[in-house]
Amino acid sequence: MAESVSIQEVGLRDGLQMVKHTLPTVTKTEWIAAQAAVGFRAIEVTSFVPPALLPQFADAAEVMAAANKTPNLTAAALALNLKGAVNALAAGSPKLTFVLSASEAHNHSNVRCDTDVSLGVFSDVIAHAGDTDTQIGVAIATSFGCSLQGDVSEDRVVELAQLLEQAGARKITLADTVGYANPAQVKRLFNRVAQMVKIPLAAHFHDTRGMGLANVVAALDAGVRSFDASLGGLGGCPFAPGASGNIATEDCVYLIESMGFPTGIDLDGLLDLRHQLADWLPDETLSGRLGVAGPARTFQSLN
Ligand code: ZN
Repeated sequence: MAESVSIQEVGLRDGLQMVKHTLPTVTKTEWIAAQAAVGFRAIEVTSFVPPALLPQFADAAEVMAAANKTPNLTAAALALNLKGAVNALAAGSPKLTFVLSASEAHNHSNVRCDTDVSLGVFSDVIAHAGDTDTQIGVAIATSFGCSLQGDVSEDRVVELAQLLEQAGARKITLADTVGYANPAQVKRLFNRVAQMVKIPLAAHFHDTRGMGLANVVAALDAGVRSFDASLGGLGGCPFAPGASGNIATEDCVYLIESMGFPTGIDLDGLLDLRHQLADWLPDETLSGRLGVAGPARTFQSLN
């Protein structure tokens, strides 16, 4: 039997982050339950950021509490700084993803400090977490290039991954935050990082320039077995108004299962949920192809 691949839904965080309309807490809770019901074991359910900055996530603690009551689900939250991480831990997040950027310009734009300072903050997060059970990972944003800075050094990404592992990260996600990655680069960089760190790696791709699924294939080739994706490709790019967001979860599931890797996800159920999402967010344009065309009649789910 082929190795399974884990897909983490990030629509509730990365997707909603770009959505102006604040989705009611009860709808978010319904979304989480429905997504878990079609087989998702990992969902990034919210972000612990100041509500003044992102009103969409003012209900972070409530959403986390509801997610924690969902059977068979390990909910994750995102934090960019110590306060966010402290709040996420206080809310009982089973998983926490801390974010820093490989691009200094992007890190300054996000958290107004050098990446080395953010590394220190991550050590503070680990110290604060103490011996709690929360699995703490790190996403290295702009690992493949940055719309503010341009090129991002691959050596720097490898070095950051090593430093983060030493500091106590249990997982590293290489994130193509602005859709700059190409498949050759993805394969090369994941291979390089995998040679230097022992903790699991994950991939987070945006489809801003239509490279998303090609990058998934390249990461699979490099041995990555954990991916982030957003239902209906919800979200966008703050630096490219109107651009598509994350790779669409349903397309990602279809691709990965078509290539022989079980995901544990009921694709038909997921497509139903995509329709539901379109109803919840009538002002948003969803992307992805499977939601339009449906699976090929020859497609066989591996579940
Ligand atoms: Zn993202």
